[in-house]
Amino acid sequence: MAPVTANEFNVYESAEARFEEAAKRLGLEDGLYRYMKYPNKEITVYIPVTLDNGKLEVFTGYRVHHSIVRGPCKGGIRFDKNVTLDEVRALAAWMTWKCAVVNIPFGGAKGGVICDPSTLSRGELERITRRYTAELSEWIGPERDVPAPDIGTNEQTMAWVMDTYSMHVRHTTTAVVTGKPVELGGSRGRKEATGRGCMIVCDRAIERMGLKREQTRVIVQGFGNVGSMAAMLMHEAGYKIVGAADVHGALYNENGFDIPKMIDWMYVKRKPLPEFPQGGTKFSSQEVLFQPCDILLPAAVENQITTQNAHRVQAKILCEGANGPTTSAADGIMDSKGVFVIPDILANAGGVSVSYFEWVQDRQGFFWRENEVNERLRDIMEHSFDEVVRYAETHGVNNRIAAYMLAIDRVAIALKLRGIYA
Ligand code: NAD
Repeated sequence: MAPVTANEFNVYESAEARFEEAAKRLGLEDGLYRYMKYPNKEITVYIPVTLDNGKLEVFTGYRVHHSIVRGPCKGGIRFDKNVTLDEVRALAAWMTWKCAVVNIPFGGAKGGVICDPSTLSRGELERITRRYTAELSEWIGPERDVPAPDIGTNEQTMAWVMDTYSMHVRHTTTAVVTGKPVELGGSRGRKEATGRGCMIVCDRAIERMGLKREQTRVIVQGFGNVGSMAAMLMHEAGYKIVGAADVHGALYNENGFDIPKMIDWMYVKRKPLPEFPQGGTKFSSQEVLFQPCDILLPAAVENQITTQNAHRVQAKILCEGANGPTTSAADGIMDSKGVFVIPDILANAGGVSVSYFEWVQDRQGFFWRENEVNERLRDIMEHSFDEVVRYAETHGVNNRIAAYMLAIDRVAIALKLRGIYA
């Protein structure tokens, strides 16, 4: 049965509904259930910034620490005009479960600033980032909470966070953030990691179905860090990318796109995706999700597959590159259609896995070759995929609930071992 939420589009309610179902199936003790349900800490900051026109503006920012049970908090920083505290809460909880699914020693956190990066200059973005970091400087740190990029933030943002934090503690502390430029202690392979992780789990899923990469059609929604890297790597590996979308619209072409040319069009020529000269049929960013394909890879924003449209999905496999692209109320529809779902907390965990490698390398002061990073990433993703699928089969639940159960159980074990500090 699909988990019930009062408001289908509230991501926090969606995250909670899955947690509730998994906790119930695990028979989680009441006290542990309450402990894990609520975040550890929620911080709101008001960020005064002088804009380029000389006016003073105040932006609202959040950082939510969901859990430190298995290690320091870990989670991205989102710059977006639609950021809400509920969204940051949901994303923080998902980070806890994601780190536990892939068994890396972190808890979960997330941050966000309500702003529209497309309307802000580089200088304004730098000042927002630095003041946000300064306000949070007591709460973040390599042993406390380690931010990373998310929607609207990138390597440069992380470089500013690292520098600001380092100025406050008066020594260079590269391990305070991940997703930094390689020149500043970033890890080789981090930029591609989330997309590569998506490809690795798709490889595993098509193998189960007896499909070959060359006969597998993929639609990718979102062409930022996750989507463009997933499309690029999957194209290179032989998959046929038949649909692509960004915030401006989508293109569908059953013959497949030349992805390096599409990336050049968007990122070098700086042109809109729907105008890509290789052609194809134009769709809205959401409508493309319902065109014929074998793998649907949403890698943009939340709430794309809902009770209103899930019945129209044609894919055999849903690989959730984005966090929360499917509402909890739509889960049952995907199950009844027999779609093989690779849930977000597994599918996009390649990013946090290589973030973990980056944190380890920074603390060691010793950096790995790219193929070493990619090999370790493959180990983690393949092993985690197999564990989730096996768990689902053994317990008769779908892959998403299996991933939550596996994760909640790992956090519960650690919590019982630590005990509660009085
Ligand atoms: P990004 O800012 O680099 O890219 C976002 C992309 O989505 C852009 O191409 C944008 O045009 C597009 N987009 C925005 N709104 C859209 C809409 N309504 N319809 C279609 N396209 C839309 O962000 P990102 O880092 O690639 O993150 C994408 C998703 O992946 C988010 O859900 C994020 O939380 C998740 N994620 C990111 C990482 C990471 O390493 N960056 C790791 C795990 C999960």
